Amino acid sequence: MTARDLHGWIVYLFAAYNQRLDDTVIDAYAEELRDVPPAELEAGVKRAIRESPHYVPSAGQVLEAVKAGREAAASPPYVPCGQCADGWLEVEPARNVIVGHNRAGHAVVSRIAPTVKRCECWLAWKRQGQPTPAINESKSIPRTATSEKVAQFKRRMVGQERTR
Ligand SMILES: [Zn+2]
Repeated sequence: MTARDLHGWIVYLFAAYNQRLDDTVIDAYAEELRDVPPAELEAGVKRAIRESPHYVPSAGQVLEAVKAGREAAASPPYVPCGQCADGWLEVEPARNVIVGHNRAGHAVVSRIAPTVKRCECWLAWKRQGQPTPAINESKSIPRTATSEKVAQFKRRMVGQERTR
C-alpha cells in the first residue's frame, strides 16, 4: 500500500464526522495504521465508524475494528436451522391485552410485542465463533472528545509523556 492510500482512508475517516484534520494528526494515525493490510483497512475504517457514531475513532479503535473484522471473517458463516427466524425463536406471539375500560365500557386493548429468544443454532454458532485470544492487547484510547484525542496525538508527536 502506498502512503497515499493509507492517508486517503484517514481523511475518509475524519470526513465521516465532518472533521478537518491537519498533517500532524494524519501522521499520527498513519504511524499506528501503517501495518494494516490494505485489504483490511477499508473494512476496518468503516466498522470503526459504525461502532463510534459520535466521535472520531482513535487509531487504536480502528485497529480494534480491523481485528474484529478479521475474526469475523475467520469464523464460519451462520446458517439458520430452518426452525427459527435468523436465530430468533418466538416464545410468545404478539398479542392483545386488555389494559382497562373506557367510560363507555369498551375494553382498551394494548398490543404486546412478541417475546423472542435466541435459537440453539445461533447459540452453537456463537460458541463456535468465539474469537481466539488477542494477539496483542488493545492499544485503544478510551472514547473521549475528539479535540482531546487530537491533543493526545499531538503531545505524543512532540515526544511528551502520554497522560494515560
Ligand atoms: Zn435456529
